Amino acid sequence: IHENDFIHIIDKIGTSRRKLEQRESLKTYEIIRAIKNNHIEVLYQPQVDLVARKFMGVEALCRMKHPRLGMVSPDRFIDKAEESELIIHITLAVFKKAMQDWKKWYLNGLNIKLSINVSPVALQQAEFADTVFMLLAQYAMKPKNLCLEVTEGVLADDQIQELANLNRLSMRGVEIALDDFGQSHSTIERLQKLPINYLKLDKSYFIDNKGNLNQLSLINSSLSLAKKLNIRTIAEGVEDSSIMSLVTEMGCDYAQGYYIGRPLEAKRVVYWKREWDSIT
Ligand code: C2E
Ligand code: MG
Ligand code: MG
Ligand code: MG
Repeated sequence: IHENDFIHIIDKIGTSRRKLEQRESLKTYEIIRAIKNNHIEVLYQPQVDLVARKFMGVEALCRMKHPRLGMVSPDRFIDKAEESELIIHITLAVFKKAMQDWKKWYLNGLNIKLSINVSPVALQQAEFADTVFMLLAQYAMKPKNLCLEVTEGVLADDQIQELANLNRLSMRGVEIALDDFGQSHSTIERLQKLPINYLKLDKSYFIDNKGNLNQLSLINSSLSLAKKLNIRTIAEGVEDSSIMSLVTEMGCDYAQGYYIGRPLEAKRVVYWKREWDSIT
């Protein structure tokens, strides 16, 4: 074996190891360390009203600051955290940070909706709704300003505790969005069980098989189902102008995606809104 080949092979192994590492799930101790050190960060992605062309609100998206890997995406630690109670700590950290940031925006004259992702594990906690009510009171936030994003998992068999929490929250005016709609197969019957205000059409609808007729009719039937049930729709994954036109023409109510705005740091949200308002 030639020395050059050898170096080349070692290099390749190094590269693929690094690539693998960039996708691998974090270890439990890394998640615990991040929670303890307050290294759970929150970014905010803008959501806009497609009809009024107005800024509607933001979705809180968590990140982890890792000493060696830098900012780590939630895909690499949420699933792992959901295997234990760690997700409860992450959820609480995200709620506190996001509500604190909301309060700052509010004091800066911004009265917007804040959406937060809630894992089914957190919803299973008997005290979940009470914790949210307590936080709303603490930050003097109106329930209408808060939207909880839940996934279709909560529609599975009889999730009594989840449903009880969602019903209590909804009765007080907290809004509920069904996230990643279209990833699994929800029936109308199941949809009607939940107190949902929004359906978030999964980004795979728009990004994979773009323009495919099958895909278009799937989008269409989801939109008309939502209309029938009096549920508003949010398109996610609006990555370019063609998807933006498509979702507007098809009658989605709201949209979110890289074309509209990337997830931002809290302090940039006020400027982003000003800019959006000035170009629309
Ligand atoms: P999600 O709730 O469906 O959030 C949307 C994801 O799509 C975000 O990824 C966002 O950055 C990404 N995205 C937005 N616009 C575009 C686009 O135009 N194109 C593409 N390709 N992607 C786009 P992110 O931030 O990596 O979050 C991934 C998932 O992690 C979220 O999916 C959510 O399920 C979960 N997650 C994030 N934050 C939290 C949290 O605080 N708690 C819980 N339980 N889950 C969270
Ligand atoms: Mg979400
Ligand atoms: Mg989603
Ligand atoms: Mg998703």
